[in-house]
Amino acid sequence: MTESKPYRVRFAPSPTGHVHLGSARTALYDYLIAQKTNGQFILRIEDTDRKRLVEGAEEELINSLHWLGIEWDEGPDKGGPFGPYRQSERKEIYQKYAKELVESGDAYYCFCTSERLNQVRQEKQQQKLQPHYDGLCRAITALEAEKRVNAGEPHVIRFKSPKEGATVVKDLLRGEITFENKNIDDFILVKTDGWALYHLAAIVDDYLMKITHVIRGSEWLPTSPLHSLIWKAFGWEEPVWVHLSVFLKPSGKGKMSKREAAQLTNDGYSIFIKDLEKLGYLPEAVINWVALMGWSYDDHTEFFSMTDLIEKFSLEKLNPSPAAINFSKLDHFNKEHIKKLSNKDLAERVYPFFVDKKLSPEKSKLEDIAPVINERITTLDDAAELCKFIFNDIALPEQSALVIADKTLDETGKIARDVLALLNEITDWNPTAIDSIMKNYMEENQLSPRQLLGFLREAIAGQKVTPPLFESMAVLGKTACIERIKRAIEVIG
Ligand code: GLU
Repeated sequence: MTESKPYRVRFAPSPTGHVHLGSARTALYDYLIAQKTNGQFILRIEDTDRKRLVEGAEEELINSLHWLGIEWDEGPDKGGPFGPYRQSERKEIYQKYAKELVESGDAYYCFCTSERLNQVRQEKQQQKLQPHYDGLCRAITALEAEKRVNAGEPHVIRFKSPKEGATVVKDLLRGEITFENKNIDDFILVKTDGWALYHLAAIVDDYLMKITHVIRGSEWLPTSPLHSLIWKAFGWEEPVWVHLSVFLKPSGKGKMSKREAAQLTNDGYSIFIKDLEKLGYLPEAVINWVALMGWSYDDHTEFFSMTDLIEKFSLEKLNPSPAAINFSKLDHFNKEHIKKLSNKDLAERVYPFFVDKKLSPEKSKLEDIAPVINERITTLDDAAELCKFIFNDIALPEQSALVIADKTLDETGKIARDVLALLNEITDWNPTAIDSIMKNYMEENQLSPRQLLGFLREAIAGQKVTPPLFESMAVLGKTACIERIKRAIEVIG
């Protein structure tokens, strides 16, 4: 284990869409290992592919990471000694390094037109060969190429990939992976418009930013030999490569498609961080859940706070096998993390969900209700659903819903009037007082809790499921309770 030295790691997203579980996990692992080793976590925006940029994606990215509690040390918003941290601001740097590769003979100018390239591709396909570039411009002398470039002839810069032998990439989780060089194209480093492609830009940046460990999704594994070759061509020492496990859909069968990801919303789930926030998941729960998708501490510990994770995380314990996304686990972690919140904290967190439902609760009342609901909700949104009757008036109940089980309408009316009188007499309105008076009444009149509470629930809450009723009545307040029971009595007639 080499954790004695500070690690410098980077999360290098392209702002081309929503932040999903995969990117959250990469960023989390980066953050954890940087914290653990007293290193630095760098946020780098890879936005050289201008056509794929999505408006607002960078802002969403920053918001989602903040929400998750993942903080970086250097980045476009923070600056740092190796900036700029947005690739679109580093064009000249990449051009300089591309030229270096041309000069060392590891790259070359290619003047082929797109028509010619299409033709080459078609021919190769007909011959059932890989549709690689045929290397025509490799033969142009340096002097000649220089002249044509200076004369303004459109060109790209290609990497001169070896055609024989193999490139071995050493991945921390998978060991050595051998890639045959004949399968590697003379890929483009710099396009006609002068913009570097991802392959070159990422390597130059990882080098200049002194990245020690590249942690990223395993979709980058096939391109890793290209990256390794570029590092070698420059004569730089490669970082440690860490390609994380693939996420599978909840069934465990295959990767999640875009359509399936969208479909999840109908079931109240999502793979996008901004949606999970809206659905009422705690960032602590999402972090706990995501951390365990590809990492484990031992075979039984499951509950982790961010502080625990920083202490216990290590790259060596990452698991390269695919991990199925299990939303019931997320629900489980959410419940567990909700239970750990203080009443004040839970009140603060459920507040926006009440506001969303057009309820404007006093925060102190939410705090009062917090201990009653904290074991009963899965998401923060559930709290608003469960307690809306406390913060909003309810609809007039139906007569049929009020009639007590095994009692007539008249008998129900009498019980309702008795209860009203008893509750009215309570001067110190609290759950214990309500509880003892109601229990007495039930005993004296041989009523079961199901009978009496069923009625009170309909009358006071207008819903079949509530948090513990007497506690809820205490928070709701005496006046409102009396008022609602009176209305119920009128309905009973
Ligand atoms: N910009 C790449 C992405 O969007 C980064 C890949 C890497 O980490 O090297 O995922």
